[in-house]
Amino acid sequence: MKRKAEIDTIMIHCTDTPPRREVSVKELDAWHKARNFEPYVDPKGRKVYAGYHILVHLDGSYERIRPDDQRGQHCKQGNMNNRAIAICYVGGSDNNHKPCDTRTEPQKKTLLTLVRTLKGRYPHAQVVGHRDYAPKACPCFDAKTEYKNA
Ligand SMILES: [Zn+2]
Repeated sequence: MKRKAEIDTIMIHCTDTPPRREVSVKELDAWHKARNFEPYVDPKGRKVYAGYHILVHLDGSYERIRPDDQRGQHCKQGNMNNRAIAICYVGGSDNNHKPCDTRTEPQKKTLLTLVRTLKGRYPHAQVVGHRDYAPKACPCFDAKTEYKNA
């Protein structure tokens, strides 16, 4: 489904996992499959359940999960699955499973670069956190303020 014209939001998420605990796309895929997320069928015919568009790892490297022109599965509220590009960083929880901004310096750098790149592509897009639309702590920092002038 082509939906470029609809994209007006960049939404930041976290995996809700503790510090220094890496999460692979494969693992995320299994988690989201278990939650019955709507898959995206990739060009090779594989079903991809992981609902974000981009996953940012602890070392600042990132992986593309869904192309921009495919709906995400990451926020039921506000029609965000249709409107937003979803970037998720690995982390967001402390060792007691309390919400916590655990972003590493490389992750912060990559998130900023990705936000700037996407804002270049979608100049009118607002940058928000999941928590701005849903009763959650995710992504455990104020994305709206942090990226206001990105
Ligand atoms: Zn989220």
